[in-house]
Amino acid sequence: MQFTQNKRTSPPSPCRAGGGMVNESPMPLTITFDNSYARLPERFAARVAPTKVREPRIIKVNYPLAELLGLDPAQLDSPEGAQILAGNVVSEGAASIALAYAGHQFGGFSPQLGDGRAILLGEVLATDGTRKDIQLKGAGPTPFSRRGDGRAALGPVLREYIVSEAMAALGVPTTRSLAAVATGETVVREQRLPGAVLTRVAASHMRVGTFEFFAARDDREALSMLTSYALARHYPLSAEKHDSAQNEALRLLECVVEAQATLVARWLGIGFVHGVMNTDNTAISGETIDYGPCAFLDEYDPNKTFSSIDHGGRYAFGNQPRVAQWNLARFAETLLPLIADEEDEAARLATERLQRFPGVFEAARARVMSAKLGLVSEREEDALLVADLLQRLAANDVDYTVFFRSLCAAAEDRAADVQTAALFTSPNAFHEWAAPWRRRLASDERTPQARAQAMRRENPAFIPRNHRIEQAIAAGGRGDFRPFETLVRLLARPFDDQPELAELANPPLPDERVQQTFCGT
Ligand code: AMP
Ligand code: MG
Repeated sequence: MQFTQNKRTSPPSPCRAGGGMVNESPMPLTITFDNSYARLPERFAARVAPTKVREPRIIKVNYPLAELLGLDPAQLDSPEGAQILAGNVVSEGAASIALAYAGHQFGGFSPQLGDGRAILLGEVLATDGTRKDIQLKGAGPTPFSRRGDGRAALGPVLREYIVSEAMAALGVPTTRSLAAVATGETVVREQRLPGAVLTRVAASHMRVGTFEFFAARDDREALSMLTSYALARHYPLSAEKHDSAQNEALRLLECVVEAQATLVARWLGIGFVHGVMNTDNTAISGETIDYGPCAFLDEYDPNKTFSSIDHGGRYAFGNQPRVAQWNLARFAETLLPLIADEEDEAARLATERLQRFPGVFEAARARVMSAKLGLVSEREEDALLVADLLQRLAANDVDYTVFFRSLCAAAEDRAADVQTAALFTSPNAFHEWAAPWRRRLASDERTPQARAQAMRRENPAFIPRNHRIEQAIAAGGRGDFRPFETLVRLLARPFDDQPELAELANPPLPDERVQQTFCGT
């Protein structure tokens, strides 16, 4: 399948939305959809319209992202835009579908999950030439809702907005947030909560679970179509980079192994804990997707879990590479019938690709960590330096983000060693490590200033601290979105010192610590 050859089946039609409201803007709000997933056979998705909400009100429109998508942000940020972003008005040309998928959740297989509360409006071609899905999350029930209400509460919507946008600014592949809209309705969870809809933008919404859905039904034809579609959409150059003689399924497996290994290495670099790395939350594109009980490390602890339902620590910070590989094994299994006719041969070929994961991951992690340490060249023995450091951070309850930012200053001027060492319960633990680190730095040619500057582009001053997110959510629940706005603004530039907001770089005080996060579904 060649996306470049996609012809629009009908001319883009402007949509005049607003449900009878007066439209004061001179131009109608236009979204030019170019849908491809909706053209796959019927069993890939259910056609379903969003359910209208009572009183849509814009909380936030992401202006830079809207511009990237070729949309007029000011038009989105209007009562007319609110109608569209809440799903009350569906633009002409929209696909409006809920995608079918299955998934392994905490190791157990569910043959049918699917978009139970998300509706894919359609795809647009962004100004940078990329194809993006625009999806409404919390837009009402679909045939996949099971017992769910199809809705989202305000808190999780704000969390996903803050964290996904922060991840993008941190340079991590991720779905993004175009808008958050309050519905004017309540959703019932353990308590009654204000409802909201998030507009999610993604490279696509194909998951490992999408392949599992068809594999569970022995639907080889669908698997084959999905494979071709995924390759064309996400890895169009893979035929050149990878062995083009091998079949498409193997090539896709190689691409996804690489994308996921690289992604998880990026997570580890910034202390991100996804929290619910089920196969239905593992994107074929290699983007971070489905921000539920996610969190960021404060002090470094590889065993850390936050999610209230992750009892066994399956998705603990340091376990994420292993889980990613486990998820990829489930992915590989779905592809076996396409890889070779003979079962043993298919398994042999797939296993060989899966076994590349640790190598690709370690290489990606080495790149991430050596950049954090200010190294230019990469050497095998650097792994020891990194391992020794991490062990010292864990043993001394050192805040992961504050440490690396402080290390930038130490790289520039030894005088900053004192403040860096003070982060350790036993300051000598830093000094002992810093000596070999400095010897290693000396073997790279770089001025201390240039090194520190480069390190400040790798080691953020600001991350979405769990307690700050909670504070923003709590204020939002009271109708005060200023803390949310402040966080979003701050985290659009996580690598810049922003002295006026310096306190937002601080770890939580003991009574501010977030002990647990929740799925919030
Ligand atoms: P998640 O935990 O968000 O990855 O969702 C797992 C599955 O539950 C997916 O199929 C979701 O669509 C579905 N789901 C989650 N929340 C709801 C809800 N409020 N209503 C309907 N389906 C939901
Ligand atoms: Mg999910």
